[in-house]
Amino acid sequence: MNANRFAIRSVIAGAICGAVICCVSTNSYAEDSKPGDKVEKEGNKMKARPCVVVWSEGTAPMNVYPADINGAIAEGLTQSLQDWEVVVANLKDADHGLPDALLNRCDVLVWWGHKKHGAVNDELVGRIVKRVREEGMGFIALHSAHFAKPNLALMGTACSWREYKSDTKSIHLKVEAPGHPIAKGIKDCDFENGERYEDPYAMPKPDDVVFSGVFTWKNGQTSSSKQGFTFTVGKGKCFYFQPGHETNPIYMNETVRRIMANAVKWVVGTK
Ligand code: ZN
Repeated sequence: MNANRFAIRSVIAGAICGAVICCVSTNSYAEDSKPGDKVEKEGNKMKARPCVVVWSEGTAPMNVYPADINGAIAEGLTQSLQDWEVVVANLKDADHGLPDALLNRCDVLVWWGHKKHGAVNDELVGRIVKRVREEGMGFIALHSAHFAKPNLALMGTACSWREYKSDTKSIHLKVEAPGHPIAKGIKDCDFENGERYEDPYAMPKPDDVVFSGVFTWKNGQTSSSKQGFTFTVGKGKCFYFQPGHETNPIYMNETVRRIMANAVKWVVGTK
């Protein structure tokens, strides 16, 4: 029995009230669940739904992300993927929030990490890679998760950008592949973005570059770089999205939330 299952509104309300409950163990975000609901209440309904797990290392500032980055992403996914089970998992949870029982039924794993890549258990990384490569689990790496162990293992390259700068104020996101399902309903747009990663990126050849972007620096200069691209790794589909620095609340942005939902639906594999 998992007493830590909350509706997203409860997590956010608790965080706003100052209670540090965004770091409890794995939470399942069900539209109709309430604090204290028992797993048995939904029973088979939960098992029948596709499952997306949103993982975070827990280092995002609370004043920007009161429910952490995975909580913000999960909130957006819950709103748009109403027939999905949306779960948050955290580095500090037991098994890093990804015990076998959850990982084995996870259809899509979304990963945000920055400062604590080295703390991630190598055995877990191996299980994630196996789920993607051999069993078709989708994998989405966000922003500084380019250096996350699962992303490195799946890509098999250095996954380094040419340059990292925190001298930026915004990005103009450009849709490069308007026919791609991840770009469905997305138009070119601008949002706050304080950190830029510059091409080239040491990666395998992507299947599709869905988004690029033009950064506007604080001094008025501009530069451009790839922002979102897809890969196939064995049986699994992968997507990387560059925006997502922890001091910019872009995962509350409606366009970014739509991109996240589109990406989850696109990378989902068949069990
Ligand atoms: Zn960053």
